[in-house]
Amino acid sequence: MNKNTFVIFLYISFLFISCGQVKTSESFTAMNTYMTVSIYSSSSKKGKNVCREIQEKVCELEGILSTTLTDSDVYQLNHNKILDAPVNPELSELLDFSKQMYLRTGGAFNPALYPVIREWGFTTEEYKVPSPERVQELLLNTDFSKVECNTAGLLLSDRMELDFGAVGKGYAADKAVEILKSNGIKSALLDFGGNIQAVGKKPDGSLWRVGIKNPWEGGAAAALSVESKAVVTSGGYERYFEKDGVRYIHIFDPKTGCPSNSNLESVTIVCESGKYADALSTALFVMGKDDAIDFYKANTDFDFVLVTKERELIYSAGLRGFIEPLTDFSRVECTADSFEK
Ligand code: AMP
Ligand code: MG
Repeated sequence: MNKNTFVIFLYISFLFISCGQVKTSESFTAMNTYMTVSIYSSSSKKGKNVCREIQEKVCELEGILSTTLTDSDVYQLNHNKILDAPVNPELSELLDFSKQMYLRTGGAFNPALYPVIREWGFTTEEYKVPSPERVQELLLNTDFSKVECNTAGLLLSDRMELDFGAVGKGYAADKAVEILKSNGIKSALLDFGGNIQAVGKKPDGSLWRVGIKNPWEGGAAAALSVESKAVVTSGGYERYFEKDGVRYIHIFDPKTGCPSNSNLESVTIVCESGKYADALSTALFVMGKDDAIDFYKANTDFDFVLVTKERELIYSAGLRGFIEPLTDFSRVECTADSFEK
């Protein structure tokens, strides 16, 4: 084979490999979320098997982390205040990670807020505004750093209860990516209800295009082009109730024990790890615009997009050239290059 024939052979092989990818898409409901897995693989049989493996893994994690399934580890922990050793390794991994995030975010991310969130009715949808005294009383048992995990097992103080709802889907997406990688999948897109996880690029070599929801008019407010990244959004518009003209959203400020009243409509985090993006999107939402940007300046290991109540679009310098505004913003701002990685 001479050089030219070899180059043509390589080119045809490349075309065959990239075009020979079959798309398999499966949807299921888990973790109270409609989830869709889209995979490009060598055959639909392989694609279906990998989708099934992912669905089984996500359901297994739900069986550990659910606050409502009575035989889940977290349900048992919340009710008995103890889980005997050995603690499930995935629960222990998520707990360690969550403790780090609790400390790093100055408590803005706090999985121990569950009793407070329940008091407002977000777990049952029987919404109410509790008295300030009741909220203060419940806040006394939300110091997440006090959760103990040692050789005896996992221990909660008397009235503490945990909920990994702000990080669980991101953690599950990381586990799904591990399954995709171990099966040799180079191109896939996971949509775990607001938590997007892009694996590689699209089979034609272009970047994945992911929309950020428009909080006001529906549709997309902006589009991001990404490769091998988690894109996770926390938005006040996702779940809320209104009483006497006030909107109470499902993201809580651990300092006040009340729904966050920050100046943000949504926070989108872009980075490799799904659990990091998930925990950060919730925490930066609680921090509000200025503190979220300050947090980014001190921890530039992720990118962000803030949509503010004043209709601003603010994004980190790492996204320059990869973000396209799709609605009328009052202002579009990119953070200064000096914070760049
Ligand atoms: P996310 O959609 O990832 O921002 O998660 C929001 C969910 O996490 C809420 O529905 C609550 O169950 C829980 N949550 C609310 N506020 C917080 C907080 N500050 N820290 C941790 N979890 C929270
Ligand atoms: Mg989150």
